[in-house]
Amino acid sequence: MTRKTEVLVLGAGVIGLSCAYFLAKAGREVTILDQSWPGSGASHGNCGTITPSHAPPLAKPGMVAQALAWMARQDSPFYIRPRFDPVLWRWLWRFARRCNWRDFEQALAGKARLLLQSRRLLAELIRAEAIDCEYAERGHLTVFRDPAALAAFDWWPRALRSVGMQVNALDGAALRAREPCLRAEVVGGFDTPLDAEFKPDAYVGGLTQVVAALGVSFASQAEVQGFRVDGQRVAAVHTRAGEFAGEQLVLALGAWSPLLARQLGLELPVQPGKGYSITGPRPRRCPGVPIVCRERSVAITPWRERYRVGSTMEFSGYDTRLDRTRLDALLRGAAEYVEVEDWGEATVEEWFGWRPMTFDDLPIIGAAPGHSNLWLATGHGMLGMSMSAATGLLVADLVCGRPPQLDPEPYAPTRFHAGRNR
Ligand SMILES: Cc1cc2nc3c(=O)[nH]c(=O)nc-3n(C[C@H](O)[C@H](O)[C@H](O)COP(=O)(O)OP(=O)(O)OC[C@H]3O[C@@H](n4cnc5c(N)ncnc54)[C@H](O)[C@@H]3O)c2cc1C
Repeated sequence: MTRKTEVLVLGAGVIGLSCAYFLAKAGREVTILDQSWPGSGASHGNCGTITPSHAPPLAKPGMVAQALAWMARQDSPFYIRPRFDPVLWRWLWRFARRCNWRDFEQALAGKARLLLQSRRLLAELIRAEAIDCEYAERGHLTVFRDPAALAAFDWWPRALRSVGMQVNALDGAALRAREPCLRAEVVGGFDTPLDAEFKPDAYVGGLTQVVAALGVSFASQAEVQGFRVDGQRVAAVHTRAGEFAGEQLVLALGAWSPLLARQLGLELPVQPGKGYSITGPRPRRCPGVPIVCRERSVAITPWRERYRVGSTMEFSGYDTRLDRTRLDALLRGAAEYVEVEDWGEATVEEWFGWRPMTFDDLPIIGAAPGHSNLWLATGHGMLGMSMSAATGLLVADLVCGRPPQLDPEPYAPTRFHAGRNR
């Protein structure tokens, strides 16, 4: 028997759930399915920061040299496992070609618009639906130990100001006045007042309940295995839990998206970018706001009873190992910036997740080329939590045929078919 619905959402991560939320709010009958349970993928153990300030894309002049320098170190924040993988090498080549200021500015503008709208929508959604997820609007600090690295980072506040975001430069003494647990070696950094944070698993759990209360049906343990296609229509989805069909389908499978999209003839340039996190009980001395330890690329997020350190970008395919060297590097890196004598004594969780990375650092949102009832919502990279609400609203606008509140053009899946993005 085929279970039929108006809109079938594939993948119950933060992106699929946000799409389901805004579609249900628009009066659509929605079913959402997942191979596991809602929020079990990258949306679980990430750093939970909502960061419009991370709008500057990864691809910028100098990035290739920086990445090569990082590759030489075992415990660096960036790593590519050497192997024969033409799809990955093509992805890296396309990324390298975007390391110029023109592409940087184009991606910056597209990311900033989505992040700013999402920041506002997340605050509204969490308040309106009373989701208890430790949401806080306290701003974040980005801190440096190396004066030369701080001086070379001058492009970052410039980029943020160019898209209307506030960023304040602070010297070491001003930073320590804000956060007394910062070490004397911290020489300076930035405060980004618009940034916020929440507990990602609590947010996703709360959103799951809200979406269910709106009448959305869930199918867990329903791994998508294949599709039945009728001309340009995706007529049915075969899963471990039986067959499902939707008048419209939204593919929101995070880092797994290219594996399933390939079966529909779509080549999505999405690579799994593996990251790690360690969660522990809140230490006696703990920062009051999230801190990015810049040279080590380690992020620290404090919550009421827990803290988390997370980071690293590893291109090792769909590798499921927890790498001890990289996990240890997180706490060691954080300890270079923050006095953390009782950190790491009792670990609650060690985790990895696959970020769905596009080479242009923009998500893929919109109608799937060559299909009449398939929509894509994937490729959110390092910022899926931050971009989730605006993505959900944009997908709902597009699926419902409403004029979109946000120009969808920068995120259109068709951008990979033309010109410089090929
Ligand atoms: C270490 C780390 C730190 C991060 N920190 C932040 C942060 O501070 N702020 C931020 O904004 N972002 C952060 N991110 C990025 C963020 O976690 C992701 O961008 C986001 O979770 C992606 O959401 P998603 O719904 O697209 O993917 P996922 O959450 O991975 O969801 C995809 C879902 O699809 C399901 N699925 C896969 N294959 C199938 C199948 N065949 N059939 C059915 N279901 C399937 C999976 O089970 C999963 O639930 C971080 C990521 C990492 C790894």
